[in-house]
Amino acid sequence: MANSDNNRRKFMATTLQSVGLTALGGLLWSGYSDEVKASPLVLRPPGALPEDDFLKACIKCGLCAEACVNRDSNKNKDGSKRPGTLKMAKGGDHRMIGTPFFIPTEVPCYMCDDIPCVPVCPSGALDMPSLLNEKEELDINKSRMGLAVVHKESCIAFWGIQCDACYRACPLLDEAITLEYQKNERTGKHAFLLPIVHSDVCTGCGLCEKACVTEKPAIFILPIEQSTGKAGSHYVKGWDKKDQERVREAKEIKTKNERSEKEAADYLNMEVEY
Ligand code: SF4
Ligand code: SF4
Repeated sequence: MANSDNNRRKFMATTLQSVGLTALGGLLWSGYSDEVKASPLVLRPPGALPEDDFLKACIKCGLCAEACVNRDSNKNKDGSKRPGTLKMAKGGDHRMIGTPFFIPTEVPCYMCDDIPCVPVCPSGALDMPSLLNEKEELDINKSRMGLAVVHKESCIAFWGIQCDACYRACPLLDEAITLEYQKNERTGKHAFLLPIVHSDVCTGCGLCEKACVTEKPAIFILPIEQSTGKAGSHYVKGWDKKDQERVREAKEIKTKNERSEKEAADYLNMEVEY
């Protein structure tokens, strides 16, 4: 009898152990798979392919981050090395483990002229041809690591307080960010100088985000995919001849529904039930 009790206890202990291990394994796995899923808000090095393609191409060798930290310009006056811009994601970073990324408020990209992080990439995840200009030279201004976005409600320039920290920090001074003069109607005698980001020039280096004086930056970099909209090909810029030519051959598309069959004036005057 005592022997069968012992066996039962052993069986229960083994079962509980395996249940515990399975649960722990599940927890670890869900943590791991969270890391494996790419965070949509990650900023990649210059020339990075679109995120899905980048994740397929990057072999996680770390050569870009190594080139970034070891570049000649990355030294203090006493010759000691500064932290590099690019970090390789590890557990807890909530990015695909082993892939390079940067956080502008820690270390932004200094937009090196020779872009040392890119030519060392052996996999094409950092796409050199996308950074070549008309003279076939590497041109950091062609990179689109992200796009600066201004949160008007927390940007003190929109309150009427004089601040041009982001404007001054931008390496593409007066091109990627301009200051727009606007009359302050509330006081009637002051002016706003508002930072306006130009998405066709901004490279997403993050120097503006690093320089912003507010408690949490009022200007920050988002990946292009998350910071841009899309008008759709059926909208035409009436003032742009090229854009008009684009749709010259387009076929007319007629929407068929109850409303489209009526005249605009009819349905605008229709009674609406709420
Ligand atoms: S361009 Fe930016 S990411 Fe590349 S090496 Fe220079 S600072 Fe680092
Ligand atoms: S050098 Fe290229 S392949 Fe290697 S970690 Fe950087 S992006 Fe990935």
